[in-house]
Amino acid sequence: MKALSLIEIADAVDGEINNKVELTIDSISTDTRQLESGDLFIALIGENFDAHDFLEQAFAKGAKAAVVSADKDYSIDQPLIKVEDTTRALQDLAAYYLQQFSLPVIAVTGSTGKTTTKDLIASVVGQKYKTLKTQGNFNNEIGLPLTLFRLDESYEAVVLEMGMRGLGEIDQLTEIAPPDIGVVTNVGKTHIELLGSIDNIAQAKSELVQSLDSTGVAILNADDQRVKNMAQLTTADIIYYGIEAKADLKGGNIKTLAQQDQVFFELFGAGEKTEVILPMPGEYNVYNALAAAAVGLELRLDLEQIQVGLSNASLTEKRNQILSTAAGIKIINDTYNANPTSVRAGLKTLSQISEQRKIAVLGDMLELGTVAEDEHYKLGAVVAAEGIDYLITIGDLAAEIARGAEDNGVDKSKIFTYNNKENLVVKLKNIMKADDTILVKASRGMKLEEIVESIS
Ligand code: ATP
Ligand code: MG
Repeated sequence: MKALSLIEIADAVDGEINNKVELTIDSISTDTRQLESGDLFIALIGENFDAHDFLEQAFAKGAKAAVVSADKDYSIDQPLIKVEDTTRALQDLAAYYLQQFSLPVIAVTGSTGKTTTKDLIASVVGQKYKTLKTQGNFNNEIGLPLTLFRLDESYEAVVLEMGMRGLGEIDQLTEIAPPDIGVVTNVGKTHIELLGSIDNIAQAKSELVQSLDSTGVAILNADDQRVKNMAQLTTADIIYYGIEAKADLKGGNIKTLAQQDQVFFELFGAGEKTEVILPMPGEYNVYNALAAAAVGLELRLDLEQIQVGLSNASLTEKRNQILSTAAGIKIINDTYNANPTSVRAGLKTLSQISEQRKIAVLGDMLELGTVAEDEHYKLGAVVAAEGIDYLITIGDLAAEIARGAEDNGVDKSKIFTYNNKENLVVKLKNIMKADDTILVKASRGMKLEEIVESIS
């Protein structure tokens, strides 16, 4: 981080400083467990904690100064900046800090694929420019500001993941970090419980596109009608990518390379064609790669640089991890999270990469509200269409997938429903044998990684 004076910081966060000492700050922390000597401590108030309780601890660990709430009394004789709202101060400071740099800001939102697309963009753009990216999944009103403080003068571009759990949240993130390039991956039913309808979800994602001015560029998935329609909401230039629809960047001849868990595709863009091998399974990743290629072209990389960037991408989180067990079984560990779009993608991947029997272990998808039962039931048809050999479900909602599969012709003797992981594992161990491929997927709250551990 580039150094800022305490007075400058107080100004940026509209705070009152108790002690006009000449201090400069070159690192920031919001968590005393990770705080290092010399940090500015920003005391956030969360749902389950109040960092003001750790203020003395922060100074004991060597904090130089702290940003605190003006609502409280302090007996500490240390440099304090008092503000109305410490979270707001963190954001205002991050916005101010970003303004010190002149570099392209690339933002990614969408229902699925944000983290993957962000990682692919960083890998592509990184071929030409030193690029900072959101670490892991730090995509919210706190993670995004903290990401920005990692900037320093050596960086030439920044890629930010923007997540949301409600209307207005992306808006807020774009105010902190106004993007020059905005990417929207897709609109699906993630967080429908919180947003009420898919149109509200589309509206929330569109806040990214609306934040762009006429010098900006929106990179939109032309195969997703709701994303494509966002072009109408901005004066920014539009770059479309897609596989089916007419688009500026297209993917074609997509193939899963079964042995290596890789995806091959031909990339058409800027009047040229190149062949890409993506080092990750899942043909849906071609969309994420096309979005990254579009950013690359916009930043004047050539197709060769883009190809190299895509082939060398390393993903921060191996969500769709493929494990091979000693018994010769392949497990697709996709237990990090699930929603209807990603489960469809997961079943498709299962069917693409397996050469022998395909087993799907699916648990509840949470936060789907009133459409939950219906969305689970509908996945039963996908299980049937992808030719899955065994379906094993866990949870009351996932039992609806089983019902849907049976109604769509999957052999009843190959469907099992459970409410208990131990019993499920016993059955699964009974069924599985060498050369099987097993997909394990559910919402985070279902903790299906426990099943993966038991069978791997
Ligand atoms: P989160 O909201 O949890 O941050 P995310 O949008 O960052 O999720 P990723 O972490 O990139 O998404 O991917 C999560 C899962 O979504 C993947 O493991 C895969 O199953 C699925 N997925 C990723 N990209 C796509 C896509 N373009 N289309 C459909 N499904 C996808
Ligand atoms: Mg993510």
